[in-house]
Amino acid sequence: MRLLPAVLVVLSCNPAVAAEPAPRPRPIQRAAVESSLPSVAGRIRQFAFDGDATTYFVSERNASKTDHFTIRFDTPVKLKSVAVLTGRPNGDDALAAGSLELSADGTTFESAATFDKGKASATPKAGTVRAIRVRSTEDLKHPLVVREITLDSNPRVTTFRYPVEFTIDVTDAPELREWTENAVRVCEREYPMICDLLASDGFQPPTQIRLAMKASYDGVAMAGGNRITGSVKYFKSHPNDIGAMVHETAHCVQNYRGRGLPGWLVEGIADYVRFWKFEPGTAGRVNPQRAAFDASYRTTAAFLAYVTNRYDAQLVTKLNAMLRAGRYDAGVWKTLTGKTVEELNKEWRESLR
Ligand SMILES: [Zn+2]
Repeated sequence: MRLLPAVLVVLSCNPAVAAEPAPRPRPIQRAAVESSLPSVAGRIRQFAFDGDATTYFVSERNASKTDHFTIRFDTPVKLKSVAVLTGRPNGDDALAAGSLELSADGTTFESAATFDKGKASATPKAGTVRAIRVRSTEDLKHPLVVREITLDSNPRVTTFRYPVEFTIDVTDAPELREWTENAVRVCEREYPMICDLLASDGFQPPTQIRLAMKASYDGVAMAGGNRITGSVKYFKSHPNDIGAMVHETAHCVQNYRGRGLPGWLVEGIADYVRFWKFEPGTAGRVNPQRAAFDASYRTTAAFLAYVTNRYDAQLVTKLNAMLRAGRYDAGVWKTLTGKTVEELNKEWRESLR
């Protein structure tokens, strides 16, 4: 049986009375940031658009006039204003000669403002914008430093709440470069979802994750610290399995450090991220005969989805916080749901018949 997320059914008791239409939430637009310039360690691209002017992007090498730093919107936005602040907080490496450019189609750019003392701003009058770009108009003798880009647009574009940057190593399989670049783009895009689900007090998710494709690795993929290893052989024959990389990204965010962790739950949470949040409906059927809460991976994920739907919408977030803090034990199920894990397991198995 495929487990579906809980559906809230709203019944209208008196159809003669027209209900006031609920205000539609303002749509939110997402963006991706790209650059011809690699980032220096610890100063990643997304820091330039995270709503925090104390964090910033720094290029690893000096920028030339052919380099760019670009924010691309998922769909066009009506841009009311844009302001770009460059240079380090002490004023060093501010852009003296540069151009702030806008693009309606995402390909052709036109200058909307020039930089003066490291700053540029524009208030476009008409039309929609697909991308904005910062470019030096001369070859620099210093890195490009972008502190913050501030936008006012309709729809609003969300800044990166959990800035992250994946770097890739495809030396073992250069032919997998395009596949790996796409996979990390997907993982970066899913990062806010993963970090929200796996949030806990005071926890800062990693901002840099390294993904290496290895010819010598015989498994599928694995994660340790902020590193992911993928099997060249496996992903060459399973190019659609990007979800496996989302699973590994969840491990990087879990960041559990204690000893004696329940492996089945650690894997179950990573597969819950994958199969219930990233690609819902693709986990397949759980065999009621073999179903067990601690069968790990997608079976445990299905159990977590069942308990989430029946008992506590925040279950996975709470379990994650306990695992991260080293406070997880078998008794937490009773605290969270009023039932032991064995009782929940019995109930879940019955629901599968
Ligand atoms: Zn795993």
